[in-house]
Parts: sequence; C-alpha cells; structure tokens
Amino acid sequence: MQYISTRGGGERVSGAEAIFRGLAPDGGLYLPESIPSLTPALFHELCGLDYIGRAERILGLFLDDYTPDEISSCVRGAYQDGFQDNCPAPLAKLSEGTYLLELWHGPTCAFKDMALQLLPGLLTTAMAKVGGGKEAVILVATSGDTGKAALEGFRDVPGTRILVYYPQEGVSTMQRRQMETQQGGNVWVTGVRGNFDDTQNGVKAIFGDQALREELAKKNLLLTSANSINWGRLLPQIVYYISAYCGLVTDGELGHNQPVNFCVPTGNFGNILAAHYARRMGLPIGKLLCASNRNKVLTDCIRTGIYDRNRPFYCTSSPSMDILISSNLERLLFELCGSDGAAVAALQRDLAGRGRFVLPDQAVQTLDRGFWAGFCDEQGTADTIREVFTRCSYLLDTHTAVAVQVAGQYQAATQDTTPMVIVSTASPFKFPRSVLEALGIADLPDDDFALARLLADRTGTDIPGPIAELEQAPRRFEGVCAGDEMTAALRAFLNR
Ligand SMILES: *Cc1c(COP(=O)(O)O)cnc(C)c1O
Repeated sequence: MQYISTRGGGERVSGAEAIFRGLAPDGGLYLPESIPSLTPALFHELCGLDYIGRAERILGLFLDDYTPDEISSCVRGAYQDGFQDNCPAPLAKLSEGTYLLELWHGPTCAFKDMALQLLPGLLTTAMAKVGGGKEAVILVATSGDTGKAALEGFRDVPGTRILVYYPQEGVSTMQRRQMETQQGGNVWVTGVRGNFDDTQNGVKAIFGDQALREELAKKNLLLTSANSINWGRLLPQIVYYISAYCGLVTDGELGHNQPVNFCVPTGNFGNILAAHYARRMGLPIGKLLCASNRNKVLTDCIRTGIYDRNRPFYCTSSPSMDILISSNLERLLFELCGSDGAAVAALQRDLAGRGRFVLPDQAVQTLDRGFWAGFCDEQGTADTIREVFTRCSYLLDTHTAVAVQVAGQYQAATQDTTPMVIVSTASPFKFPRSVLEALGIADLPDDDFALARLLADRTGTDIPGPIAELEQAPRRFEGVCAGDEMTAALRAFLNR
C-alpha cells in the first residue's frame, strides 16, 4: 500500500514513511492511494475477534510494510492493559435503535487515547524502518484532549521527545491540570497566549521553518506531529467504527448488512473522516452526521459548499471542538475534487489567503450524499445533558451532548429511522462544572475536584481513576509563552 499527498506533489511513500513524516513535503496530508475492502469473508472473520484482533487485521490491510508481528506488538501495547475492563470501545444502548460508542475509557478519559495509545508504537516502528537513526521530536497543538493523550502515549518512549502547546484561552481546568501534572523524562508542556487556531498555526509555522529543520537535522533530530494530520492518528480510528458495527451485529441489534448512521462530534474533522474511510471500505454506513458546537464552520460548509473561517471564534463548554480550521477536511477535499491535488492546493491557498474557499458544485453534491451537518449552541448542549440524564439516567459530557442534540435534529428533519450510533468522545468528569451547571445544580465550589466529587455524588456515577489521581499529583509545567515565542520554547526544551 502506497501513500500520496493531498496536494498531488512528491513521490508515493510507504505507510512507515507517511507516519514518520507526518506531513508531506508539499504541505499536503498523506492518504492511502487505494482503500482496502471489507469483504464479506473478512467481515465475518472480524466479528469473531476481540478488539485487539480486529485492530490487528484492519491495520495490517493499510500497513503492509509492517510485519504482522510488528503490528501485533503495537496493537497489544496500546489496548492490552490501558483501557478500563480491557474493553477499549464499549457500546451503551440509550434507547431502541440509538447507541453510544464510548471511546473514553483510556488513560486520559477522551477518545484521543484510541489513537494516541497506538501512535507511539506505529511511529517508533516506522523510525526503526525508515528513520535513519534519528530521534523524533513530536510537536502537538492541542484544543485540550490531544495534548494529554499524546503526552501519556509518548511518555518515556525511547527515541522520542514530546512538546505540547495548549491555548491559554480555551482548555478546561481539568484538561490543563492533566497536562501540568504530566510525568515522564521526555515531555514538556507550555501554554500559548491565544486560542487553538493561533496555537495550531504556530506549530504549522515551526514545521514550515526549513532553517530550523536543518539545524535540528544536524543534531540528528526530526520534527514530527502527533496531531490528526498524521495518518497514524486516523488509522486506529477506523477500527472502532468497524468494531462497533461487528458488535451490534453479534449482539443481534443489527441485521446482516443493515445500514447504520453515525453521529460524530467534530472539530478537526479527524474522527468523522475515519468513519468515512470505514464506509469506503464497505461498512454499511448510511449518513455520517457532522455535529458542531457554536463554532459551526463545518455545518455551514456542508450545507452550502462554502468554507469560511472569517467569523467570531467562541470559547464553548465543548472546548475540544472550538476550531475554525478543520485540518482533516483536506483529505476529504481530495476525494471531492476527484483526486486532483492541484485543485486541493488551490482551495488551501484560498483558505490561507482569504480565509475561505468555495467547493465546486459537483463536490457539494457528493458531500451531500454522504454527510449531514448540524450544530448545537450552549443552551442546547446543557438542555441535552439534563434531558438525557433525566430520561435515561445516562450522563453525557458536553461534546457528546452536542452530537446527541444534532442526531435528534437530523431524525426530526428527515424522519430517517436508520439505527444511530452517537460517538461519545469524553468522560463528563473532564468538564464537571459545565455538566453540573447543565443539571441545574447551584452554588458550585471553585475547585475542580470538589466539582467532580459533587457530580459523582449527585449522579451516582464514579470519578474515573485517572481524574481522581490528578488531585494529589504535583504540577510540573506552568509556563506560558506568546505565539511568536513558540520556537524559542522548542529550543529551550531541546537544550535542556
Ligand atoms: C478532539 C475531540 C473532538 C473532535 O474530534 P476531531 O477528530 O477533531 O473532529 C470531539 N470531542 C472530544 C472530547 C475531543 O477531544
């Protein structure tokens, strides 16, 4: 299997090379040249396997330059022990025909663990194959959950160092605390003044700094990314869509080949894109519902074909979706533009220059066939948390609540009765204040851990271990830098 760039430049590369580089030399994102198919025989086989077995099989299809043993050791390293009850992606039934795919039972209590527990294995294996003995310096811009998950995944992994930048405006208190207390000899964390887009742009600028890259290369260091622009982030996410479908079939909830819709709370468009790849492999997915919060740039794009980031940026109660530049959309654009890399490059130039692009008509029609989009404001998010808890005794986090709301909007608008899986991306205990406020509980304490205890108490749920443990953990990283000091922060980290 070979990988190509969304901007059409450069050579085809192996899976290891794509994962090792992160970004293609022409600035594009890597994607597989063809999509393997989920044959009936393979589907049958997958249904008989556990999550680890399914992940091994599916990864093997995309990474044929990795040996089965290598894949197996990466997958086992990721999913063998790190997830609660050894069940990385359990399904909960909310009501007849509506399910939640819970992806937050890993070490940092958000769905980013699904990929970031696996990426370090994939990356270090790639480095051994094609890295020429270099050490990887992983840079991450986070809207809250990626940073912690990447730190946890890469901590003390030999041959790697990791630096996480998080926007000072935007992450939740619990998310910040998770990062400030990170353990590990090869990690560093810094706040950045500004929002997520500022932070992500800063990291992109560092990647684009050719002189810096050369300087680092002389020290045998290679900059790479653990953001979802890396193919190694997306690939593990395909697995849980297929696995969820297998689970519904083996549990008798779905008939053979019966279509299902997925509703995905979306920010950078990575998670939902993985679902799209599962559909292209042949998984019977009907519609993919793209759920946004008030930062509804994707809703507008899917409805109108115009992507326009010239709009106010809102800090919401679902901070991991506060994004106006959805990097992974570029991979879908490549398909929508008929694999025309030059056309994608032109759209990205428009986006960089004028902050907007307009999709060709035919692309809008293709998009419309596969996707439906909706958004949910702050009030709707809070109402949904309260309503679902009252009706189903199920406690949603703010991001998942956005998706539950949008799934309801879709069903009301279309009368489509296809079974629906809503992707649940974080534990409610990462956002205890917003969740308590949504439940209408007054006189809230200031301290986040007091909030978490109150939430547990009032809802009869348990605080996840990784969150409870933070309270006693010492803070190691409390520094903040300006957007134009991000390179200096990197230098300081490397010279330590
Ligand atoms: C990252 C994140 C999202 C958005 O996922 P994308 O892949 O960026 O679309 C949604 N919910 C939570 C809790 C997240 O951490």
